[in-house]
Amino acid sequence: YRSWEIQRVRTTCPHCAVGCQYDLLVKDNKLVGAEGVDGPSNGGRLCVKGRFGSYKFVMSGDRLTDPLIKDRATGKFRKASWDEALDLVASKFMTLKRQYGGDSLAGFACSRSPNEDIYMVQKMVRTCFGTNNTDNCARVCHSASVEGLARTLGSGAMTNPIYDITHDVDAILLVGSNPEEAHPVIGMQIREAVRNGTKLIVVDPRDIGLTKQADIHLKLRPGTNIAFANGMCHIFIKEGLIDEKFIAEHTEGFKELKKIVKDYTPEYVAEICGIDADDLRAAARIYATAKKAPIIYCLGVTEHSTGTEGVMSMSNMAMMVGKIGREGCGVNPLRGQNNVQGACDMGASPNQYPGYQSVKDPEIRAKFEKAWGVKLPAHIGLHATDVFPAAIKGKIKGLYICGEDPVVTDPDTNHVINALKSLDFLVVQELFMTETALLADVVLPGRSYAEKDGTFSNTERRVQRVRKAITLPGNSRLDTDIICELMRRMGYNQPNLTASEIFDEMASVTPSFRGISYERLEKEPTQSLQWPCTDQYHPGTPIMHVGKFARGLGLFYPTVYTPAKELPDAQYPMMLTTGRILYHYNTRAMTGRTEGLMEIAGHSFIEINSADAKRLNIENGERVRVTSRRGTITTEARVSDKTNEGETWMPFHFADGNCNWLTNAALDQFARIPEYKVCACRIEKL
Ligand code: SF4
Repeated sequence: YRSWEIQRVRTTCPHCAVGCQYDLLVKDNKLVGAEGVDGPSNGGRLCVKGRFGSYKFVMSGDRLTDPLIKDRATGKFRKASWDEALDLVASKFMTLKRQYGGDSLAGFACSRSPNEDIYMVQKMVRTCFGTNNTDNCARVCHSASVEGLARTLGSGAMTNPIYDITHDVDAILLVGSNPEEAHPVIGMQIREAVRNGTKLIVVDPRDIGLTKQADIHLKLRPGTNIAFANGMCHIFIKEGLIDEKFIAEHTEGFKELKKIVKDYTPEYVAEICGIDADDLRAAARIYATAKKAPIIYCLGVTEHSTGTEGVMSMSNMAMMVGKIGREGCGVNPLRGQNNVQGACDMGASPNQYPGYQSVKDPEIRAKFEKAWGVKLPAHIGLHATDVFPAAIKGKIKGLYICGEDPVVTDPDTNHVINALKSLDFLVVQELFMTETALLADVVLPGRSYAEKDGTFSNTERRVQRVRKAITLPGNSRLDTDIICELMRRMGYNQPNLTASEIFDEMASVTPSFRGISYERLEKEPTQSLQWPCTDQYHPGTPIMHVGKFARGLGLFYPTVYTPAKELPDAQYPMMLTTGRILYHYNTRAMTGRTEGLMEIAGHSFIEINSADAKRLNIENGERVRVTSRRGTITTEARVSDKTNEGETWMPFHFADGNCNWLTNAALDQFARIPEYKVCACRIEKL
């Protein structure tokens, strides 16, 4: 294209939470490309998803263009007018509320939507449905981080910026995270740091791309993170590597933790984790003696029935050696989806309003009641993972899902489908006819990130703009307009607002966002701000807990290792764990509509260790049947030694051969996050 034919619109990548900045290239109201620009988290870089997978899906012929209503007798959808569809949705939800009460309804916001859409979804659920039954998909990825970091540090978010933890650091402790595939631009920066001399410790049950660059790879058994972290703490204490001054001045609970970790000798931990005791010692020494060393972790830590305790173990390690509240350190969860940080920030949570303000605090509740002009429920709502069993029991009757596809993403697919089929009424607001939308009574066509204004908050708490690039033909509507219109039809006086007006309303009731506005974002040198940003002069907060933890004193949380809820046995002798690949994003709603990416990675597979493959007489590339207590799928075998013997790994992107028919929905006691990362399975040659 000739440069003068192209209009450039600066925006934020809609895939992962790195929050890369790029220009969408627009010609004749069509998206024709994406080019990386010098954003604070990407410095001009993009991965294949941002470069190629971020615009073709927007113009896909699969886009929903009209509201659809299903005839339950035939199971067929028909096109409907907006008036008919919205009247039906509003009247049905209000009838259910009258019959069964507000707590019979629930609404999920989408962690890929802009903050403004999410704020409006939770506002609708609270003001119109009259319940705190609202959630987002952080429940199944990083709710354990929100809970675990809030309990130990006082704020459930990444402590340090991406640039800070990938540049000029002496060591990186990478736990349960494969950034080259899941957060590729962070992966690139880590690879570069290692090339420049940073030591790398990889703690992961599988060989990942960065393993080859690592000084130490602790290839631990899935589900043994807590034993690993306790072992590290044991060595810190035994070898005098702890920061006594920091512990004395800034923390509490050290004595209790010391008692617990006393038993976690390197040899004991090596046995639990299946690693070498000397490697563990070496890892502890590298991390503890490095001047600057961040812990970077991801779903390998959170998606366990002990996920919250796993996260708190990360805090334990960092606090014990005083590596928090300063540059190049901290505890840093890499959030998954582009705006999953924002979805939590915006209050799509059953226990918190926007800005992590408790629904149980009478003063805070009174503030929101005044701002929104309604009486609000005082009790905590249901977590998303508890909504499904409640639907099966008949307690949840109506569900509104904005942009999530739990049939593909949530564990134990049979259970999710049964739950959705048990509902009296299901509404899905979507771009495409997803597996979940197929089960809906009404489907409402929304708009993509390229067709709207808004903001995303990336993994480092950085609020960045999303800007409208094109207007597509068809009958879809802005998601916020759909929600406002629905609210009016349910009797709440909610005018349509611009994205900027919605942001201002949110900031007016959310202290940690009070200093951020669209106007200010435009003027900032990086066009972004990191919360907390409490007034218009506040510079934002790149590093948290400097000088003082958000909770006052950092809390050491003593926790003991308990095995995963389901371990291999005679019937299901293999262990299955799951993860992401570079070429796709979650359910592939976006990347699955990008030819190049589908050509490289078009179907599901399972990685099997070569010794297991030999025993089962399975060749690389053959079709296999995989069965767990919850379901059976068929997929392609990939034989290698990436996993240990007895362990297998599958990507979670593919509806066909979806690993979530197999995964276990056992829940963590604090955050209600499911144990995706460990279940038992059986593999048979087809
Ligand atoms: Fe998009 Fe993440 Fe890739 Fe950056 S690293 S381009 S945010 S998918």
